Amino acid sequence: MESEAVDILIAGGGPVGAALALALEGSGHTVLLAEARSAVPTGARSADSGAAPIAAAGDARAIALSHASRQILERLHAWSGLAVTPITTIHISQQGGFGRTLIRAADCDLPALGYVANYDDLQQSLLAAPCSARRLFGARLSAFDGSTATLQTQEGERTFTPRLTVFADGARIADGNPAPAYSKDYRQTALVAWVKTAQAHGGRAWERFTPGGPLALLPHSAGYALVWTTDPQQGARLCALDTPAFLLELQAAFGDRLGAFVAAGARSAFPLALRYRREEAQARSLSVGNAAQTLHPVAGQGFNLGLRDAWELARLARDANDPGNESFISAFRRARALDRRAGIQFTDSLVGLFSNSNPLLRLGRGAGLLALDLLPLARGFVARRMIYGARGLP
Ligand SMILES: Cc1cc2nc3c(=O)[nH]c(=O)nc-3n(C[C@H](O)[C@H](O)[C@H](O)COP(=O)(O)OP(=O)(O)OC[C@H]3O[C@@H](n4cnc5c(N)ncnc54)[C@H](O)[C@@H]3O)c2cc1C
Repeated sequence: MESEAVDILIAGGGPVGAALALALEGSGHTVLLAEARSAVPTGARSADSGAAPIAAAGDARAIALSHASRQILERLHAWSGLAVTPITTIHISQQGGFGRTLIRAADCDLPALGYVANYDDLQQSLLAAPCSARRLFGARLSAFDGSTATLQTQEGERTFTPRLTVFADGARIADGNPAPAYSKDYRQTALVAWVKTAQAHGGRAWERFTPGGPLALLPHSAGYALVWTTDPQQGARLCALDTPAFLLELQAAFGDRLGAFVAAGARSAFPLALRYRREEAQARSLSVGNAAQTLHPVAGQGFNLGLRDAWELARLARDANDPGNESFISAFRRARALDRRAGIQFTDSLVGLFSNSNPLLRLGRGAGLLALDLLPLARGFVARRMIYGARGLP
């Protein structure tokens, strides 16, 4: 079987891989996007088969997109049709302790601090945007040896010899790929569901730190996207409850600030871990998005960081004759090191600091939240970090 030539092979058509394919438009390189699932959100088409893929079973996750991500998605022509709910304020507090802070869009001179979208809508919007890259659905990368990439496709095995193979296949452990260099199991589950309260959300997101883990409510259409972090047993129990019993438990954990919780959609649970790698096992390869770093969702950073990976890779590729040689790979790593490290450390520290019932830590947290509330400059700094990452504007 003869191997096919391509400049850049992207393994994984999740939101980060799909964004990378768009960002590489006009780079002068030939691009192949291979997505393992044959069922992707409707609207996308397989360029090789021309067939409309079957609608995918939905991913219940909602993604908070930062203002900087909006700017990138606009440039990729994947923003205008995307259904989003703006976040204009974020209220942060801790259960059973003093201190709270309110971050406002006005602190950063922006119309919104961020925007909430469905994971599936985001992926669909990225896959439906005009793109000349070849796209193969139902094509799983099964092997890569530093020069040849093997894809298992619906038509059988196909091999390619890309100049650069980009792993955008999410948490790669599940696929039998080499384990990342660092892995820490948080022994927590994120329970996600759409919920509705008696009061309208008014664009406000809530992040409440409880001893079991953070509980976030993100404004989403006429209700909220709930991300409730608990230990895995508690998460399984909450998923199994009937809706009225679940709403009562949610009410007890969150309190009465929003009036009664009156409705909840389907619940699903995601196990949480921190995983990252800095070096690839093979030459001519790089990782982006969750394949490079999988973060706790506490600060809503994972996709936003991964999108910046994709954007930077495409920017560098535009000036590169050989986007897989060692100098290209090192330039990409250098360009992304600070932002990636800051995203990982910020998220991991938040989990350590707030998922803890130590009374001294609770006092320190309260003082921190109070200080943030009293110091507009500090508040603005935190907000900008969350919006733009450690390297500033894209
Ligand atoms: C509960 C929860 C809430 C979150 N909330 C936020 C948030 O508010 N804001 C935020 O920025 N981030 C958030 N995240 C993180 C965000 O979901 C991820 O960072 C983002 O999905 C990463 O995108 P990705 O494309 O890198 O990986 P994925 O979304 O995992 O996509 C990977 C793709 O690769 C495909 N694939 C897998 N293996 C192969 C293979 N071998 N060959 C070909 N294709 C393959 C998969 O089918 C999939 O389509 C949250 C995560 C969780 C769990």
